[in-house]
Amino acid sequence: MFVAFNQQHQLTTLLAYQATEIPRLRQQQWFCPQCRQPVFLRAGAACTPHFAHYRRSDCQLAHETATHLVGKQFLYHYFGQRGYQCQLEVFLPVLQQRPDLLLTRGGQQLAIEYQCSPLSLARLKQRTAGYSGSQLPVVWILGPRYIQKNLKNRQLRFLNQSVSLGYYLLFLESSRFLLWHHIQQIGLSPQYGYHVQSLAQTAPATKRQLGQPSLAQQVAYLQRQLQYRQHFWQQLQLVCYRQHRHLLMAPLWCHTLQPTPPILKCSLFALRVYFLLTFEQQSVILPQALTDFRQHYQFLFQPTGRQFAPQQVTVLTALVADLVTQGYLGVIAQGWCWRRQPIWFKSVPDKLAVAAKTRKKTSQEVFD
Ligand SMILES: [Zn+2]
Repeated sequence: MFVAFNQQHQLTTLLAYQATEIPRLRQQQWFCPQCRQPVFLRAGAACTPHFAHYRRSDCQLAHETATHLVGKQFLYHYFGQRGYQCQLEVFLPVLQQRPDLLLTRGGQQLAIEYQCSPLSLARLKQRTAGYSGSQLPVVWILGPRYIQKNLKNRQLRFLNQSVSLGYYLLFLESSRFLLWHHIQQIGLSPQYGYHVQSLAQTAPATKRQLGQPSLAQQVAYLQRQLQYRQHFWQQLQLVCYRQHRHLLMAPLWCHTLQPTPPILKCSLFALRVYFLLTFEQQSVILPQALTDFRQHYQFLFQPTGRQFAPQQVTVLTALVADLVTQGYLGVIAQGWCWRRQPIWFKSVPDKLAVAAKTRKKTSQEVFD
């Protein structure tokens, strides 16, 4: 940590001092702002000067990695140079939290959390809820161990969202920012597409494209998941079975390749199948039923630190709108009613043949 109390109980930020002043500061007595125990100023050729606890402390500020320290130092100077008033490790009593950095500019505040170590979803949710409850926006910046081309739950749980960047993740690795923005997902085993930008402006922006898995590939994927008894798909197959359906015979409408926000845990396919199984027996779909559906099937959504409830509603609304556009659902005063329903197939070859025919027809229409 970079902040400690001196003997006069004044909170002192180490980064405000020049390197030449460090030896003098080392002579003084220091105390941890969290546990109030004595700490010492550690400095040397190999490390950034910082306050450290004596051995065997169980204080939550006692276990900080060098990567975290260096990153925090970088962020402090980075935002300081851009006109922000920066407060390091300041304790916010209302929140009972200590963000790595609290930025203030023009009366606006922003908390910065630089996350280098693993963080459980429960703890992340708790911290994010604390910030949003206090109307204090927070941006999560992920450390080097999180940088990995194939996005997984461990990164996606830190999703940020803004109007200009869409869904984004921000990484910091040895004084280099990496921004992955406009993240989208597609496919059954979700693939993620995004734009990559290095904020150093030295590297050109790049893009990770979304693939377009064919229907045959999607069906083969589902077959493998069922064969290997993958829990999520087995559960879905069980629900299908109870309604005398089979997952592999799901209507073509379910196999959409529309990119969606990266907030679906498994896929838009799974959401569509669950939707059909829930509503195909009902003659009228009420708006309240959609709310109940979304709450009941929360496991279909990516578990994230932030609450993306309005965005989940948008995904579901788009699904219903698509059924309306394709002539499956009609809009009535109370909600929606079925005009016709997407057709389940009798066999996989049947399904592939119909899909091939539909594709041929569509491409002919393009040439006509
Ligand atoms: Zn302490």
